[in-house]
Amino acid sequence: MTNLSKFYQKTWQQRLQALIDQKIISDQQRKILQCSASDPELGDQQIENYLTHYNLPEGLALHYLINGKRYLIPMVTEEPSVIAASSHGAAIIEKSGGFTTKVSGHLLWGQIVFEKVSQPEKLKKNLEEQQEKLILIANQAHPSLQKRGGGARHLRVRILAADLVSLDLAIDTQEAMGANMVNSMLEAVANYLGTQISAPVLLSVLSNLADESLAQASCRIPVEFLTRPQLAGQQVAEKIAVASRLAQLDPYRAATHNKGIMNGVDAVAIAMGNDWRAIESAAHAFAVKSGSYRGLSQWQLNSDNSILEGKITLPLPVAVVGGSIKIVPLVQLNQQLAKINSATQLAEIIASVGLAQNLAALQALVSEGIQQGHMRLQLRATILAAGAQPNEVATILKQMQQMKKTDLTTAQSLLAKKHE
Ligand code: NDP
Repeated sequence: MTNLSKFYQKTWQQRLQALIDQKIISDQQRKILQCSASDPELGDQQIENYLTHYNLPEGLALHYLINGKRYLIPMVTEEPSVIAASSHGAAIIEKSGGFTTKVSGHLLWGQIVFEKVSQPEKLKKNLEEQQEKLILIANQAHPSLQKRGGGARHLRVRILAADLVSLDLAIDTQEAMGANMVNSMLEAVANYLGTQISAPVLLSVLSNLADESLAQASCRIPVEFLTRPQLAGQQVAEKIAVASRLAQLDPYRAATHNKGIMNGVDAVAIAMGNDWRAIESAAHAFAVKSGSYRGLSQWQLNSDNSILEGKITLPLPVAVVGGSIKIVPLVQLNQQLAKINSATQLAEIIASVGLAQNLAALQALVSEGIQQGHMRLQLRATILAAGAQPNEVATILKQMQQMKKTDLTTAQSLLAKKHE
């Protein structure tokens, strides 16, 4: 049986040695872990049982014109077509005048949930009457946030079932995402309420449904800018509008529509050191808020059918400080590349990226199909997976394109022939 006892107490080198001693990895594999470990000291500070850094490629998306200002946008993704599609969508929107954005707030909800409630209406009234006091207690638990202009703003009480009541506190987290700050503020309020309310507190924690941190991006595209080799711009625009309607009607399509949006959203969130799991869960919870899961963006033609109007609304609990943002040098560099200095600005950028990503995907889908562009980029990954060295990719790629083949077996046999 494997013995990795007190693994967390070992140094990084000891941990790697323990894996070798237990015959879990070879000496050769230790070298892979060591080479990939770009900053073991930092990694050891960031997480438990650190082994190595898992690296993802980072690239720059271009052509972003947001509220009249140009941006270079670092994106981290392993999916081949994401950055190309992002820049392509942004270029069409740039020609059309760029993105307009609106950020409606940066509040995070925190929940204190009471169980075994016997009189939910009475508890609701009691909590609502104490709003001022509860907000004071929350703010006293993290006074620096209030000093920066943030803090607890208001509360609401929701009766979830005959025995379950949720007290929700809306907290302005300023430039931070706020999960830790909100959790400690909630704890203080829960402790206070524990002394005066008979129903026990089941849990107190932030909600990731960040619907008080909404960012909207919109654009207006003259239909001629959507022209594809086989299809007039007018037809492309009409088909995009129908595809958009489809994503409002059919959750099977909406899931894919939104995945395409999140391709861009996550890539920027990761580059900016943000918690992309929180952004993902917020986006999907928001997408289903009406009761059925819907697309997060909408496209429609204007009254004379000359302009395609696009709009996206995303809950974006994003940050420029907090978590690991200030301790990862690459995140600092990425903030500088994108010239970002506020959470609002980051939300504006991410919403715009989501819309551009969606436009590029829909334009391809309703015209030549997504595979053509996708596969050109995916083919490189397939050839590398077949065992090619980077300097062999171009030759094999050309041969495969001539043969109109995209599969791994063909790549492997061409490579084998080359090595004969
Ligand atoms: P932190 O705990 O790092 O708190 C934010 C920090 O930023 C504080 O130390 C604060 O200083 C500092 N700060 C400096 N300038 C500002 C400013 N202008 N506005 C606001 N804060 C400022 O992070 P968060 O509370 O933001 O929590 C985010 C982390 O929590 C992420 O790593 C996330 O992954 C994780 N998390 C997420 C959960 C979820 O999503 N469900 C659950 C639990 C954790 P000061 O202390 O002086 O106020």
